Amino acid sequence: MSSLPACGLQYDVSLKARNTFGVDARAAVLARVADIGALQTLLAQKQFANLPRLILGGGSNILFTRDFDGLVLLPEFRGMAITHESGDLVHVRAGAGESWDALVRWSLAQGLCGLENLALIPGHVGAAPIQNIGAYGIEFAEVCAAVEIHDVAIGTTRWLSREQCGFGYRHSIFKMPEAANWIVTAVDILLTRQAQLRLDYAGLREQLQAQNIDTPTAADVADAVTQLRLRKLPNPALIGNAGSFFKNPIVMNTVAKQLQLKHPTLPTWPTPDGLSKLSAAWLIESCGFKGLRDGDAGVSSQHALVLVNHGAASGAQLWALAQRIQASVRQHYDVLLLPEPMVI
Ligand SMILES: Cc1cc2nc3c(=O)[nH]c(=O)nc-3n(C[C@H](O)[C@H](O)[C@H](O)COP(=O)(O)OP(=O)(O)OC[C@H]3O[C@@H](n4cnc5c(N)ncnc54)[C@H](O)[C@@H]3O)c2cc1C
Repeated sequence: MSSLPACGLQYDVSLKARNTFGVDARAAVLARVADIGALQTLLAQKQFANLPRLILGGGSNILFTRDFDGLVLLPEFRGMAITHESGDLVHVRAGAGESWDALVRWSLAQGLCGLENLALIPGHVGAAPIQNIGAYGIEFAEVCAAVEIHDVAIGTTRWLSREQCGFGYRHSIFKMPEAANWIVTAVDILLTRQAQLRLDYAGLREQLQAQNIDTPTAADVADAVTQLRLRKLPNPALIGNAGSFFKNPIVMNTVAKQLQLKHPTLPTWPTPDGLSKLSAAWLIESCGFKGLRDGDAGVSSQHALVLVNHGAASGAQLWALAQRIQASVRQHYDVLLLPEPMVI
């Protein structure tokens, strides 16, 4: 068995620059793996095979509340290519280690449509299926044809169809116990040459109008989404955050109706499976947390759903604030807010 190149491994390493909260947690071992062969070589070594494992992409959906006393794996699988076309449909394959936004831009440059509403979401391609990323009216599930996984427990690599991925709102099979040993290595997505633009999401048409664009192309939509996101969301390069910290809670319609009777301004939306989604941002703001600061842990004054690190907050401090928010929303509305990022 060949040994890993020295640059692939680091010991007792800070993860501060590897999570967008900028939390100063440490990993016992960090390994960059460029392909499945390198991954297998690494895990064939006993001292690594038995360590607790964490897969890390861009670190934009994770909160470290402590050091990780195990092996942090960085899949750096590369490549973006059109694999085949039939009629208007174009299959694109991308490696898990590619930047998601780079894939969006690359696909637009190839004249392909379908990813424009998902522009500027931070992170890597391999993480897109994990929480079924979504924005501006589109979810990853809608463009996903298949996801390639490597099962490190049995050493096999296989493709899962979209149906097998069990996608839901910020959910997929990859969050379930059966996926504990899986690493997403690549995704296959299905795009089109003819644009079928989705412009109904709040603010998108207005943004295009403000840019004097009457008949937008997919690239125009991506630019408009980019402008909106830059304006509405705090930039992790300037202030640590992981985007929305809580999912919009999904409740029975009767519960949503009762809440709306008491609180007519609470936004709710129907879900495809006949339930109601509540605005977590509204619930948090109405409990008085928007813009609140507790030491260096805070809630963004731009967006009530976004927890921010003003500088030196620890993950434990951010998590304590998140729990305060959860308790307050529970107390006022009897609704449970669930975190969107993975909390370590
Ligand atoms: C400013 C900002 C805005 C955001 N906006 C949105 C948004 O609009 N919509 C949205 O859905 N999300 C949004 N997010 C969240 C985040 O960008 C996405 O969830 C993104 O897909 C995370 O990618 P990542 O590579 O950073 O994942 P990481 O944070 O590194 O990992 C997230 C989870 O995925 C797992 N994982 C990562 N890679 C793999 C892999 N190859 N195989 C198996 N498991 C893996 C990790 O173990 C972890 O559980 C935002 C975040 C920020 C900071």
